[in-house]
Amino acid sequence: MLGLMQSQPLLISGLIDFAERHHGDAEIVSRRVEGDIHRYTYKDSAGRARQVANALDALKLAFSDRVATLAWNGYRHFELYYGVSGSGRVLHTINPRLHPDQIAWIANHAEDQVLCFDLSFLPLVQAVHAKCGTIKHYIALCDADKLPVDSGIPNLQSYEAWISPQPAQYTWPSFDENTASSICYTSGTTGNPKAALYSHRSSTLHAYAAALPDVMCISARDAILPVVPMFHVNAWGIPYSAALTGAKLVFPGPALDGKSIYELIEAEKVTYAAGVPTVWQMLLTHMKPAGLKFSTMRRTVIGGSACPPAMITAFRDDYGVEVLHAWGMTEMSPLGTLCTLKNKHDALSDEEKMKIRLKQGRAIYGVDMKIVDAEGGELPWDGKTFGDLLVRGPWVVREYFKNEGGDPLVYSGADGKEGWFPTGDVGTIDPDGYLQITDRSKDVIKSGGEWISSIDVENIAVAHPAVAMAACIGVAHPKWDERPIVAVVRRPGMDVTREELLRFYDGKIAKWQVPDDVVFVEAIPIGATGKMLKTRLREMLRDYALPT
Ligand code: AMP
Repeated sequence: MLGLMQSQPLLISGLIDFAERHHGDAEIVSRRVEGDIHRYTYKDSAGRARQVANALDALKLAFSDRVATLAWNGYRHFELYYGVSGSGRVLHTINPRLHPDQIAWIANHAEDQVLCFDLSFLPLVQAVHAKCGTIKHYIALCDADKLPVDSGIPNLQSYEAWISPQPAQYTWPSFDENTASSICYTSGTTGNPKAALYSHRSSTLHAYAAALPDVMCISARDAILPVVPMFHVNAWGIPYSAALTGAKLVFPGPALDGKSIYELIEAEKVTYAAGVPTVWQMLLTHMKPAGLKFSTMRRTVIGGSACPPAMITAFRDDYGVEVLHAWGMTEMSPLGTLCTLKNKHDALSDEEKMKIRLKQGRAIYGVDMKIVDAEGGELPWDGKTFGDLLVRGPWVVREYFKNEGGDPLVYSGADGKEGWFPTGDVGTIDPDGYLQITDRSKDVIKSGGEWISSIDVENIAVAHPAVAMAACIGVAHPKWDERPIVAVVRRPGMDVTREELLRFYDGKIAKWQVPDDVVFVEAIPIGATGKMLKTRLREMLRDYALPT
């Protein structure tokens, strides 16, 4: 017997309709590429998203055709999120930090028809457009009078000139909620990039889940600043969750330096911000010497790479801001776990609470996870046993776009049909269900048969006042197979010696886990999504030999 409830499909257009109707006057504030601040409301935004939909119809784009963006976080990008997906096309958010050849490769792979770009990326588009055979229309996200002349880019028009003749009335089409809504390529370091193809259903369910109190806890009383880019896994779904809750949105545009972010937080009374650790490091570095404080900011979600304890403590003790540590990946839309405490933790000391907060957190309803050994056998949730982390759920990929790389899932269950996505991460899960990531599986360091967590080694190094950044890698060793070393970037104007730093590990970690050496470097290579590129670092240290 089937239930007798209405089966309205979960569509992205429903989110902006809801925001317009119920939170029409809530603000969306953006720092523009031009440098000024633009402000309007969800109601204004919804009308312009419908103009985008009409403009795409006028270009005769078919259902499911791909529309690409090369854009910062801003109101026009937000309108494209809704106008493109809402009208049944697929939004392809390209990461502008990728190599131009890679950008051309993924634009061709996705068969993008239109490319909308911020003027900051004009040189990039000029460099790649000749290689992007499927793109027929180029839209510069600017006013008509800012359109560059003689750009050499075919069919280039300004966004404002493109949408302004279009009516703000449009009836969003209704279709199967499993229809593709957006596409995001992973920044994998080996092989061709692979794409997660999100659906209306997966994005909407993820938006609901993300807003939950023990997840990102987003409400109509929040003013949210997503520093995490809209070109990286849909800014962790915030553009959708904000519309679903009516939260005020504050977009930072291209200005991601500590000063600009701080000023925006204060001016727009931001209560809540989200980003990767490197961005927050820049913010704290700006605030500390000037003795600045927040007047409204209360929470920040930090994820994308492990959040160092020193950062969680600095936010809590110096600024009264609660850090929510999050873990996820492109293939998971991206949220998998978030770290919030349970009732029973109230009685714990601050130090004990901190130990939990450092973990990546508990699974969100909708994400099922387990850790397994090399044979695929499930490992216990004892907080000690490491294993390969597998996940499944309605916002986890089943296969990559165009089946690139073949079937990614591993199978288990009595009938061998339970498909799990291997995350490539290694971690432990404690009896309360808190996941702790110790490494990417390819970064795991195995010394004398025991695993050493490179994240633990790095976290201790960056807690040293003279260390700006640290990356731990394994180096071949004749007796122990591998031994850890730590590459360190010193803070400008501060000094620390190899011996001082090695002594800093005393009592913080087992002796055999202490790195064998410290290598001081000018910079640690960073990839397109702000993560350390350990493959590149290993190449840099190719000729390195362990001290005897
Ligand atoms: P991406 O698909 O580019 O978002 O990268 C996902 C990967 O980033 C994950 O598989 C993890 O290796 C890493 N990652 C994300 N969040 C965290 C976190 N909080 N702690 C440690 N690693 C993380």
